[in-house]
Amino acid sequence: MKLIILGEPGAGKGTQAEILSQKFNIPTISTGEIIRNAIRQGTALGNEAKQYIDRGLLVPDSVVIDIIKDRLHEDDCKNGFILDGFPRTVPQADALTKMGITIDKVLSLEVPEEKIIQRISGRRQCNECGATYHVIYKPPKQENKCDVCGGELIMRKDDAPETVKNRLRVYHEQTEPLKDYYKNKDLLVVAYGQEEVKDTTKEVFKALGVEDYDYN
Ligand code: AMP
Repeated sequence: MKLIILGEPGAGKGTQAEILSQKFNIPTISTGEIIRNAIRQGTALGNEAKQYIDRGLLVPDSVVIDIIKDRLHEDDCKNGFILDGFPRTVPQADALTKMGITIDKVLSLEVPEEKIIQRISGRRQCNECGATYHVIYKPPKQENKCDVCGGELIMRKDDAPETVKNRLRVYHEQTEPLKDYYKNKDLLVVAYGQEEVKDTTKEVFKALGVEDYDYN
């Protein structure tokens, strides 16, 4: 399965992508994660991207298209993949087509905007390995400590309220048009985010037409 997940920042794309990735045994590719890793490692790509990401702006198309091109050529993508956070603009979507990649479905994960702000304020990420948490919905076992590596949990810089406003504006202006883009190609399905992760998963699987899943 080759799947794209669209949705505003904080809609829960990453969480659902992780669940789908386990179910279908295919990798999740998050351009945001790849960029944040590059920033943590201080690479040239990371240094270039930081000035955009910290302001809630999109990294230039050419940069992310190169990232995706390399990543999709890796062996683990042979049986499919889930794209979380790519494409985010029409030129990026066109670039996928030009790479000869046929997408099976595009899932739009929709959540009311007031919920988004509330959710983002509780998000935390490990400063060292990048594992993600939420103070209410997915708390770590020990406060502020990563379950995976023991690293410190911090709030993403671009999750600050002013930056989130920018990211939402950018989503509406540059990414939301992709819903029509994929609707016209008959690929779009919609799922509505719920209060509980497992209820959202039910909606996601229903939208994708998957029936045999144990939600517990
Ligand atoms: P995310 O983790 O998907 O919310 O992405 C965090 C940030 O990374 C975004 O606000 C952008 O600055 C950058 N980014 C991630 N994916 C893309 C993309 N496909 N195109 C441009 N910028 C991106």
